[in-house]
Amino acid sequence: MSGFNFDVITLFPKAFELINNLGVITRALDKNLIDVNLYDLREYGEGSYRQVDDKPYGGGAGMVLKPEPIYKAYESIGKSPKSKTLLMTPQGKVLKQKDLARWSTLDQIIIICGQYEGFDERIRCLADEEISIGDYVLSGGEIPAISIINGLTRLLPGTLGDPDSLVDESHNSSLLEYPQYTRPLIFKDMKVPDILVSGNHEEIKSWRRRKSIERTLERRSDLISNENYKKSPQSKRIIIENNQFMKFRIGNGYDIHRLVEDRDLIIGGVKLHHPESLGLDGHSDADVLSHSIMDALLGALSLGDIRKYFPPSDEKWKNADSLFLLSKVIDLIRKDGWEINNIDSVLVAERPKIMPHIKLMKKNISEILNIDENLIGIKATTNEKLGPEGREEGISCHSVVLLEKK
Ligand code: SAH
Repeated sequence: MSGFNFDVITLFPKAFELINNLGVITRALDKNLIDVNLYDLREYGEGSYRQVDDKPYGGGAGMVLKPEPIYKAYESIGKSPKSKTLLMTPQGKVLKQKDLARWSTLDQIIIICGQYEGFDERIRCLADEEISIGDYVLSGGEIPAISIINGLTRLLPGTLGDPDSLVDESHNSSLLEYPQYTRPLIFKDMKVPDILVSGNHEEIKSWRRRKSIERTLERRSDLISNENYKKSPQSKRIIIENNQFMKFRIGNGYDIHRLVEDRDLIIGGVKLHHPESLGLDGHSDADVLSHSIMDALLGALSLGDIRKYFPPSDEKWKNADSLFLLSKVIDLIRKDGWEINNIDSVLVAERPKIMPHIKLMKKNISEILNIDENLIGIKATTNEKLGPEGREEGISCHSVVLLEKK
């Protein structure tokens, strides 16, 4: 009796001769770390023809494996308490490295291989899990079964020469492995990166990590956005190290300016008329809508707020046109490869009526930002006479923007 038992029900046991020529797996067999027991489905077939398949009820192409021979073969297998039964089917859950790791703590895996057009539906209840090895259809479950035997065996203690080689490899941590090199140093003018021969282990470690991240982003960014990955504390560290991982960033902006006499009332680049000829006070033109959008844009990338870029102490920005300031901010955002997904703003003003001017505000802002007007939402509300806006001491604006990395 060996360590780990694979019991496989198959119509083509000869297909498994391959594992006698698979290096590490063959060694595991030789060392009795694993045992592969094959159950030839034909031997459990019915009648003198040992029939294992039949035409599908209801018609249709091809043949389907009958339930009785598979049940009979299955019942003949001795089951250990730490056992799982896997059914090979393209309709199953797609096999992942974490499944192999999970099963490697058992001591028995029973694998049922289908053939032809598949198997009678009543086979499914034998299985603990239905497994597919990818979104394509093979002619039988033997190659999927060999893939599982192979992938699982190399995780078993004592199988690989150096167990450390399991630690860094692809799919272990949602990241693909970094590039590997061996001798010679230069091959056909292609040189091994200097860092790998520097002897500086810390730097090599961080280079490998960076390459791992770059490689995963280039080839399999789907691995990075996967939910489990996002939840792992390690991934949080990477996000901080390298915010290339972030595809979206959200920003929130707020601004309020006081209503005073002898000032223009400019919102979204539109000059409005207040019934009492009040305007907004501020160093620049005090356009609360443009200001809150700028703050949201800067906030989305953690770049601080508009005071940092256009300080009120700087004479340069006195009575500045806020749409011009907005054009500077969007340049800053785009410089880093970000693009606006959409903007949503809400103005809070008791008077004047904002509604009739919204169309023009949207037009001004979309032109400055060079984005479609449909991506900009501007709404207006009163404050029901409550608070500073309600008492007409000021007008405020809240904005939210979503940025997307291009
Ligand atoms: N008509 C079936 C496919 C039959 S393929 C269907 O549409 O679902 C024949 C057998 O090959 C299957 O029963 C299964 O055991 C095996 N097989 C084919 N592709 C597979 C895959 N991607 N993963 C796992 N098993 C597969």
